[in-house]
Amino acid sequence: VEAPFLDRMARAAAGAERAGLMGLLVTPGADLRYLSGYDPPPLERLTCLVLRPRHHALLLVPALERARADESPVGRSVEIVTWRDGDDPYARLGGLVEPSGSYGATDRTWAVHLLALQRELTGTSFVPASGVLAPIRAVKDEDELERLGRVARTTDEGFRRIVRAPLEGRREEEVAHELAGILEDLGHDAVTFTIVASGPNGASPHHEPGGRTIRAGDAVVLDFGGRIAGYCSDLSRTVCVGGPPRGFEEVYEVVREAQEAAFQAARPGVPAEDVDRAAREVIDRAGHGERFIHRTGHGIGLEEHEEPYIVSGNREPLRPGMCFSIEPGIYLEGRFGVRIEDIVAVTDDGAVRLNRATRDLELVG
Ligand code: ZN
Ligand code: ZN
Ligand code: ZN
Repeated sequence: VEAPFLDRMARAAAGAERAGLMGLLVTPGADLRYLSGYDPPPLERLTCLVLRPRHHALLLVPALERARADESPVGRSVEIVTWRDGDDPYARLGGLVEPSGSYGATDRTWAVHLLALQRELTGTSFVPASGVLAPIRAVKDEDELERLGRVARTTDEGFRRIVRAPLEGRREEEVAHELAGILEDLGHDAVTFTIVASGPNGASPHHEPGGRTIRAGDAVVLDFGGRIAGYCSDLSRTVCVGGPPRGFEEVYEVVREAQEAAFQAARPGVPAEDVDRAAREVIDRAGHGERFIHRTGHGIGLEEHEEPYIVSGNREPLRPGMCFSIEPGIYLEGRFGVRIEDIVAVTDDGAVRLNRATRDLELVG
C-alpha cells in the first residue's frame, strides 16, 4: 500500500533540495493525498507533513487523529508526531524543523496556519510548494492514467444519457440535477459541477444553471465533472434542441476545428502555449478571436484545475503522462455559446483523448 507514496515523497524532497529549499510543509488537500495517500479534511487543527532532503518524513497530527494517520498508507513509514488541544501546534512544528532558509508551503495551506508558522519561524521565508510539487504531479503514472481514463469514460456515458432525454421545456437546474444523478448512478464518488447553459446563457462560460426553460432552437452548453477513486473528470459538449439557432453551425465547426488543431499540436517537447495558440489561430482566422475569452485548457488529476495550464505565456514543454483539457469556446453575447472539451493525455509521440463522446453536433429533443 505504501507504493507509490514513498517514491513520491522521496522525489518531492529531492525536488526541494534542487530548489534550494529546507523542505516542504504539506497540509491536507491534494498535495498531501498525492504524496502520502493520507486524506484528512483541512481543518483549523494543524496537520502537516514535513519533507526535508536527507531527513525522514514527519507527520504532525492532532492527537485525536493519530489512529487515522497510523492507518494511512504511509502510517508505518513516516514518523508521526502528535499534539493535543491546548498545545501550540505551531511551536511544536517550529521545534521539529530548522528555523532558517526557505520552506515550500502547499499552495492551499490555510492562511491562519501559514501566518502562525511565519510568526513561529522568524528568519524563515515561505514559497509556494507548487514550484516543486506541480511538475511532479503534472506527470501521471500508469495507475493515475488508468483512473483518469475510467472517470473520463464514465463522464462520456453521462453525456450519452443526458442527451437521450428531451431537454425542451425543462429548466436548466432540473437538467443539471438529473445529470448529477446520472453521474452518481454511473459510479462517481462526487459530482463537483454540472453546468447547463441554454440559449444566451451559453455565452457565460461558468454559467450557474438556473430557472430558464430550455426551448426549441436553443444551443445548450453542458460542462460537467466529478471524481472517481480520487481523480477528476471534466467534459463539455454543446448540443442543439430542435434545430440550431441562426449562425450556430458555422461557429460550431470553428470550435470543433480549433479543438482538433490543439489536439494535433499536443505532443512531447511542445511548449504548453503552442497548444493554446493552435486553437486560437483557428478561431482568430474565423474572425471570432475576441470571443474566445479564456485559456485553451488546464491540467487535471487529483484536482480539477492543476498544472499544466494551456495558456499563452506557459513555455513549459509537454511531457508524456501530462493530462489536460482542450476546451476552446466562442461566446456570442445575447445569442449562444459553443464549447467542446476533452481531457487528453500526452503520450511518447503525440496525445490521446481520454474522452470519447461524439464531437459531431447532436440535435436533441
Ligand atoms: Zn471552466
Ligand atoms: Zn469543463
Ligand atoms: Zn475544464
